Amino acid sequence: MSTRNIWNESAYFLGPKSENAAWFRAEFQSILDQWFDWRRALFGSDPSPIPPDMRLTAGFLAERELISQKVHELGVLMTGEVPKYTPRYIGHMVSELSIPALLGHFATLLHNPNNTSRDVSRVSGVVEDEAIAMLASMVGYDPSQAQGHFTSGGTLANFESVWRARYRMDHFLAMGLCVAETTGQPLDPVGAAHMGWEAYAQLSAAHSIAESDLRSASSVLGNPFEIAARIGAAAGREWRGPVLLVPGNKHFSWLKAANVFGLGEEAFWPIALDAQGRLSIPALRAAIHRAHEAGRPVLAVVSVAGTTEAGEIDPVDAVCDELEEWRVSGVDIWHHVDAAWGGFLCAMLGDEAESVLETHGRRALAAIRRVNSVTLDPHKLGYVPYACGAFLVRDKSNYANSAFAAPYIDRAASNDRWMMTLEGSRSGVGAAAIWLTGKTLTFGPDRFGGIMAGTIESRRFFSEALEAGEDLVRVLEPADSNILCFSLARHGERLSDSNARTAKAFQGFAADPEFSVSKTVLSRENYGELINAHVGRYGGECDTDSLVLLRCVFMNPFWRNKKIRAALMPQFIARLQTHID
Ligand SMILES: *Cc1c(COP(=O)(O)O)cnc(C)c1O
Repeated sequence: MSTRNIWNESAYFLGPKSENAAWFRAEFQSILDQWFDWRRALFGSDPSPIPPDMRLTAGFLAERELISQKVHELGVLMTGEVPKYTPRYIGHMVSELSIPALLGHFATLLHNPNNTSRDVSRVSGVVEDEAIAMLASMVGYDPSQAQGHFTSGGTLANFESVWRARYRMDHFLAMGLCVAETTGQPLDPVGAAHMGWEAYAQLSAAHSIAESDLRSASSVLGNPFEIAARIGAAAGREWRGPVLLVPGNKHFSWLKAANVFGLGEEAFWPIALDAQGRLSIPALRAAIHRAHEAGRPVLAVVSVAGTTEAGEIDPVDAVCDELEEWRVSGVDIWHHVDAAWGGFLCAMLGDEAESVLETHGRRALAAIRRVNSVTLDPHKLGYVPYACGAFLVRDKSNYANSAFAAPYIDRAASNDRWMMTLEGSRSGVGAAAIWLTGKTLTFGPDRFGGIMAGTIESRRFFSEALEAGEDLVRVLEPADSNILCFSLARHGERLSDSNARTAKAFQGFAADPEFSVSKTVLSRENYGELINAHVGRYGGECDTDSLVLLRCVFMNPFWRNKKIRAALMPQFIARLQTHID
């Protein structure tokens, strides 16, 4: 097969021994030269405000000496940073950065564009649109229909989805309330909240509802307590607001969202997980019924593609099927996928790279193309520097977050984004890092997808070698992606004893400069079935409500290298054994 036999995508990284230093330095140099030349060429006849007799005086040269010393000092301080580039770092969701991403970031940083408005980002805003289109294609959206923007991270991208789902539901409820108050018919808040844009347009025409009426019935624009009282009066039942359905494997950003958007944490309903630690479809269906019986619509259903704890992938396809059934019966529910970790795994789809995934994961990732909106985190598996998240919607109409008059209007096509994003000023560096990655590595299955496949293969290799090398290792199954979790247990042992041993081993690693791993604790409240299955596999006894696990995140591209594997694997097992005793 092609060039893949000769080199692989790991060559796109600087390397733990700065192997690509000469190339990298040359590219940085040429970025700087271009930047210098750009300044020199523009307004060339203007006088220089800092001529040599100002810059090169003895006094200022002494100042420069100080700056030079302090830069060096900072550099020395930074050598104490966590060495996240090395394959010995398998702790959290960060590793080596790719060279294209660093170059895109740096080249744009020098121009300091603010993507909040085209007035201050003439070029960078266009780069952002193109980069969003690349990510849209990667997750299977039609890039001509999709829309989105870069955020400071996954948390903000998740917030963007709640903001928009709430905007949409507020429109539907306002329409329902106006129609009920106009006709004197009782309001069904659950039916109204899920009506969909088609019914919305029909009702608007049939009852000639004016925009001013809608505005006065909006709990986003008006006083939410007064509107709630009106909804309650029209419905003949107290209005308790919508609920947000999020699987119990959720990231804590969802609790923050419920809190910040004024839903109240009570409105945050965790959906039970199955024995694989994934969202359970029967539990989801039951939760929707329960909400509706309580007179509460569902603001959004969230599924997670790659959980933060163990990398599990929820059955996004089955959630889509379930919500499709609700939709045909007139209940349109917003579906968001939190793919902050696993979204980039979509790069593998459609080619042999995807064969490293189990059927379950393949189907789930392929179904992201069907959902309303998705969160990605380029600063995780995109190998892009912080801070860079992304929020995308499948269809432009889902991007709207304001304006009663014309919810379909693509407002972001105008000069300004600041109305469309939770954040105000936004750096263009992350968009450029993705843009340059997409133009070079490409987000296709043969290149970026190859890196992703390598991370999953590495997790598999490590997992098997670990089990073969140490009898106490109990790997958490299934591992849907590239995160490996394991506990340390003797056959038939009590969970509390195993937890103590695993926690002690983690303490050992925390004080050990050789390797970095992380720890996670799963609670019975959310992970009961998974914990039972895990402990059952070694004939253990569940005498406590949580499971302590060591967690290894395989995103470092160098673990696919056979020499690295051969050199580091035995060392890791040896360190683990010291930390057990
Ligand atoms: C990391 C992560 C987030 C939050 O992203 P930040 O970039 O840290 O804000 C949300 N959801 C999941 C599943 C994540 O892994």
